[in-house]
Formats: sequence, C-alpha cells, structure tokens
Amino acid sequence: MTRRVSIFGATGSIGQNTIDLISRDPDAYDVVALTGARNIAQLAQDAIRLNADLAVTADDSLLEPLRDALAGSGVAAAAGQAALIEAAARPADWVMSAIVGAAGLEPGLTALQQGATLALANKESLVCAGALILETAAKHDARLLPVDSEHSAVFQALVGEDMNAVERVIITASGGAFRDWPLEDLANATLAQASAHPNWDMGQRITIDSASMFNKALELIETREYFGVAPSKIEVLVHPESMVHALVGFHDGALMAHVGPPDMRHAIGYALTWPDRTNLPVDRLDLAQIGALTFRAPDDARWPALRLAREVMDRRGLAGAVFNAAKETALDGFIAGALRFPQMAEVVEEVLNTFDPDLIDAAMTLDNVRQADQMARHAAEQIIRQQ
Ligand code: NDP
Repeated sequence: MTRRVSIFGATGSIGQNTIDLISRDPDAYDVVALTGARNIAQLAQDAIRLNADLAVTADDSLLEPLRDALAGSGVAAAAGQAALIEAAARPADWVMSAIVGAAGLEPGLTALQQGATLALANKESLVCAGALILETAAKHDARLLPVDSEHSAVFQALVGEDMNAVERVIITASGGAFRDWPLEDLANATLAQASAHPNWDMGQRITIDSASMFNKALELIETREYFGVAPSKIEVLVHPESMVHALVGFHDGALMAHVGPPDMRHAIGYALTWPDRTNLPVDRLDLAQIGALTFRAPDDARWPALRLAREVMDRRGLAGAVFNAAKETALDGFIAGALRFPQMAEVVEEVLNTFDPDLIDAAMTLDNVRQADQMARHAAEQIIRQQ
C-alpha cells in the first residue's frame, strides 16, 4: 500500500536526505506536497521527479519562477504562508517537518490536526511550543516521531522500557567547529569557520548552532518536552567522534547507547518506517578500525548556551519561545556580520533577563507563542543595533 507523504523544508539538508530515501522506493510513496523557500530550482526538480501534487515556496515573490519551472509538469505551484498551511492541511499519512526555525511550527501543528504522523526534525517547534504540539498530537490521535539524531537514539533505546526505570538521559555533542579552540580566539571566529562542522553535513544555521552549542541547548529542551524527563536527569556529554548519539541510564545501572555513523538518513529512515526497521544506505561502523571513542564534560565558559537552556527549562511557560527567537535573531546578526561569535549568547541572555515575565507566564496558545516570538526578535534586534 502506498503512503501519502509531504516534506516541509524539502530543499534543505534534512529534506534532501528524506527525498533520497523515498526516491529509492518510489512505488511505496505518493508525494502530496514538497515545500521550500528560496531554492526554486531544487524544489521544482524534485517535485517533478517525485510527481508531487503540489510544490510550495514560502516566499511570495517566487511564485512566478516556481510556476515557470513547473510549467507543463502537472505539479501545482503555490507560495506564501497561507499556502504552506494549506499544504499541511492536505491529507497525508506521514509528514516530514524540516523547515528551519520557528517558521516550522504552524505547518507542523496543522499536519498534526489532520492526524498525520509527524516526523519532527524541526526541534524549534518543541522548544517554542512543546505543550501545544503534544496536546495537538494527543487530541487528534496523531503520532510524533523524533528525527533529531539524539532524540531518535533515545527513542530507540526506550523501546520496550518503562519510563519509571529511567534514571538519566545523556545526549552527546560533537562540540562543533570550535571545540578545541583557545577561548580567547572565539571573538575572532569567522562565519566560514563557524559554518564548517567537523563530522556532520547539515544546513548552515544548525552548523553554526553546533559550534555555539545553541543546537544542544535546543535539544536539552527538546528532550524534556518530548520524553517528559526532568531537566536534572538530562545530561550533555561532548563526544568528538559523533558515533554514540545518546545514552539512556536505567535504575539498575545499565546504560543503553545508540551507536551509528553520523548520517541523518538513519534517524529519518527510522521515522519513515517505524515501528519497523528497513535496510538503510548508511555506512556500517567498523569499531575495531575506529578503535576508541572519547567523551568529556562540556565546558560552561566555552558554551554558555547550555546554562541558558537550563534557565529556560526552570522558567518554563513561553521562555522557550523567547529563547529560540532571540537565538535565531542573534544568529542572523552573526551571519550578517553585526555580532561576534560570543556575542550571540550575550544577546540571548539579555533578552531573557529583560523580557516581560507576565508574557512568559501567559497561557501557551499559538497567539501567545507568536507574540512572545515577535517581541523577543524585536528586543534582540534592538540589542544588536546597540553593539
Ligand atoms: P536547511 O537550512 O538545510 O533547510 C531549511 C529548509 O527550510 C529549506 O527547505 C528552506 O528552503 C526552508 N526554509 C527556510 N526558511 C523558511 C521559512 N521562513 N519558511 C519556510 N521554509 C523555510 O536546514 P536543515 O535541513 O539543516 O534543518 C532543518 C531542521 O531540521 C532544523 O530545525 C534543524 O534544527 C533540524 N535538524 C537538522 C539536522 C541536519 O542534519 N541538518 C539534524 C537534526 C535536526 P530553501 O532552502 O529553499 O530556502
């Protein structure tokens, strides 16, 4: 039986890996919608190749080029936020949420409202609005499957286990581009240096977030939201080889580790065929050849983002939405050359410290999340302008 699938963020790193997997078994899938933003050529090429019903660009100004690229193919074209939501409302069995940033939240919520299984790469959704996402999934009997490699690893280590027996969850971090740099050099780190990940081939934003550990900070919050584990039971371990993705510790002292090559097609493939496993085109590890895997505690001075994430988890409410929006704006500032690398964390901390506490405590509705997001972006922009 074919499955109807849609891919949000199809032109990105996760989206392309997802397309790689489904195009290896084309008879198994009916592609409903593919979405992108600026990369119209890739979007159109994949939509035609996969015979999608619809291709959507988030960028209104690119509707004509998309129409031109799809002319005569039979694939419908649409553009803009409303079109993204309309695409998410189309019946589908499995939806990949791989837009980068808070922009992924509403399409994901809409897909859950249709009862689709949502494969969630867009960790920002859970950071900004975890309770809303989980409530929506429960209300519509929709399943949420993790795609982040660490969370897929935890999910797999928990198969058949009782959550009451879980003592701790350890997510690993490669340490990113600046893991071994002298601290005093970080202020001079360039965009190109921050965008070069030692192990993973990912989109630019998450690669820079790996160097700053904002990615791991988001993942700490994601772990709390997804698995309902208390923050005190979640640990981060620096593991430069990126082969052990996560470990779950049980109260008999056992640690269950998930080990695999740094290839996102594993986590995507697991979410695609869950609860079954399928033969995946990923490298098989030769542990004898690898010889040693190393681990160390993260350094708080190098990566203040981890401390900030713990403050956000203590604060709860809409603090995650504020944190993420400030982080996205600070990252834009670094990419634009308006901030030095360590200043990203300073901007985020200042936004968190000065944000209206009543709004952080407001009910988690989509409107309130949007408002907190907008206000935090505005506050971060103002701080950046003063730098
Ligand atoms: P990329 O930057 O490679 O791709 C992002 C995708 O989102 C592209 O399709 C892009 O379109 C689209 N997009 C960008 N801005 C918007 C917007 N405002 N509205 C709608 N669509 C938009 O990102 P990644 O694939 O690296 O990451 C995607 C998500 O998956 C992120 O949340 C990331 O944290 C998460 N993730 C990624 C991993 C990885 O290995 N890459 C690992 C684990 C999680 P276009 O390119 O056409 O402009």
